[in-house]
Amino acid sequence: TSSATARYITQVEEYGAHNYHPLPVVVHEAFGAWVTDVDGKRYLDCLAAYSAVNFGHGHPVLVDAARAQLDRVTLTSRAFHNDVLGPFLEGLARLAGKDMVLPMNTGAEAVESAIKIARAWGYRVKGVEHDRAKIVVAHGNFHGRTTTIISFSNDPDARADFGPFTPGFVSVPYGDAAALEALLDDDVVAVLLEPIQGEAGIIVPPADYLPAVRRMTRERNILFIADEIQSGLGRTGATFQCDNAGVIPDLYLLGKALGGGIVPVSAVVGDASVLGVLRPGEHGSTFGGNPLAAAVGLAVVGLLETGDYQRRAAELGEHLLGSLRALVGHGVVAVRGAGLWAGIDIDPALAGGREVCEALAARGVLAKDTHGSTIRLAPPIVVEREELDWAVEQLVAVLAEL
Ligand code: PLP
Repeated sequence: TSSATARYITQVEEYGAHNYHPLPVVVHEAFGAWVTDVDGKRYLDCLAAYSAVNFGHGHPVLVDAARAQLDRVTLTSRAFHNDVLGPFLEGLARLAGKDMVLPMNTGAEAVESAIKIARAWGYRVKGVEHDRAKIVVAHGNFHGRTTTIISFSNDPDARADFGPFTPGFVSVPYGDAAALEALLDDDVVAVLLEPIQGEAGIIVPPADYLPAVRRMTRERNILFIADEIQSGLGRTGATFQCDNAGVIPDLYLLGKALGGGIVPVSAVVGDASVLGVLRPGEHGSTFGGNPLAAAVGLAVVGLLETGDYQRRAAELGEHLLGSLRALVGHGVVAVRGAGLWAGIDIDPALAGGREVCEALAARGVLAKDTHGSTIRLAPPIVVEREELDWAVEQLVAVLAEL
């Protein structure tokens, strides 16, 4: 590492809380699928900020939308209206095929909002006895970092020493429809799932799982909440991974790419019969739905309306997953994925995921390990096929050196 790189890293170590363990790369600028560090070294971004940069760094349409809005008005609070929020909400509702949208900022806030909405719906619409509402989640889930959300995580690192926890959640094995059905009683107001579990290692459930969840939740008047914060908005080769699975949930939770990698924008999207339970004064956010976020979010909706990114992710993803699957048995134990999103299990006898990611970074490929020996690839959808081939070549070289 150069002295400039070392200096920036030391500063963060000294003055920043140690809640992350980043790779030793200090980014100075980025465009499209490529980032450049403070020493001028270039890297192919194969993480895309955990899918927040689906459309690439500095997408001109998104940057122009942000810039134009910066010059007009950036924050009104919801005490007043602004002339960008309406177009954004209508555009997103139409894109999702739903009635309405609750705009928030971070993914965790969208999840928290959905929990409140589901509970209020349970008491006011379904008729669940007060304070008895249950929400069913899955083992291995990752929905964010707030105290309530970690209350239903089963990751020891996420929970240790952060209790006491919020009650009202039950957890079942992911991908097991029968186990889920056994838990559904009259107090269950919602089932909250990631259609593919991202942080758990790109865990793709059996093809009949989400349809079974949809069927049983509909039969029992239970909401199906799909956390598409990482899987949604083009990543898996569709607008939503639920499209690929052939299901329509009651609520979509969106974030990350909704802000185009420029500003935090998240949303709960659903029908009026559910989102309509919220009354003025019951929920809100100073920044939620701000004009800058709405301008970028509207531009993101515009990109997705073309279908180009979904198609591109599907095509490039098939190519990428094909090349990666050929590595199984050659230092790779398993490959999972959908669209341009891959989880690669490295043979743990060879190396940990961290070690592989450090070696990849040295070769100019940025990726991140998750849960020990799994590496996640989620490049910006604007990446070229040849660049993906080059990234896979670097992985092959790294595996050969282990
Ligand atoms: N839900 C899912 C599926 C996620 O992957 C994430 C972030 O990784 C979140 C929620 C939380 O989003 P945020 O970090 O913006 O709070």
